[in-house]
Amino acid sequence: MKNVVMAHWFCGDCDVEGRDFAAEPTCWNCGGDVTVTARPTVPMDHRAADGAA
Ligand SMILES: [Zn+2]
Repeated sequence: MKNVVMAHWFCGDCDVEGRDFAAEPTCWNCGGDVTVTARPTVPMDHRAADGAA
């Protein structure tokens, strides 16, 4: 099984947060730098957990 790192981040300028598989994610709203709050390793098998009905 392959594990991947998912960055949890927060953008203080927009007051939004998000998750990204990128090592250095950028804000989806302003495209600027974000503060990474967590960087958990998750199994690839769970990548669809948010979208699973
Ligand atoms: Zn932003």
